[in-house]
Amino acid sequence: MKLLILGNPRCVQCDATVRKAEKLGIPHEYRDVTADPAAMTMAKETGFRQAPVCIVVKDGAPVDRWAGFNPARIEAAARRIAQAQCEACGGSGVTDQSATGPDLCPCVGRDDARG
Ligand SMILES: [Zn+2]
Repeated sequence: MKLLILGNPRCVQCDATVRKAEKLGIPHEYRDVTADPAAMTMAKETGFRQAPVCIVVKDGAPVDRWAGFNPARIEAAARRIAQAQCEACGGSGVTDQSATGPDLCPCVGRDDARG
């Protein structure tokens, strides 16, 4: 899974989105719609009129998308991707073993939820 960011070079919200993805350690791909016609087409097909267009891609298919700098959505995507790649819980988000997965997976550090 990865976060596809369709943005343009002079966009503050695009910069903020890329920085947030980097800070959270999300696998991401930035594509410049002003230099990449395929990326422009993809962005237009979503119907969004705001940059960046963010698409969470799983096995080549979009599973979530939004437009603009949206920290809450980026964090949700980070957790979703971390869980999908988590070896501690096998992607289930729950484990009875001591947590060793990436911090963002719901199976880690949620002792209060597990009781
Ligand atoms: Zn996990």
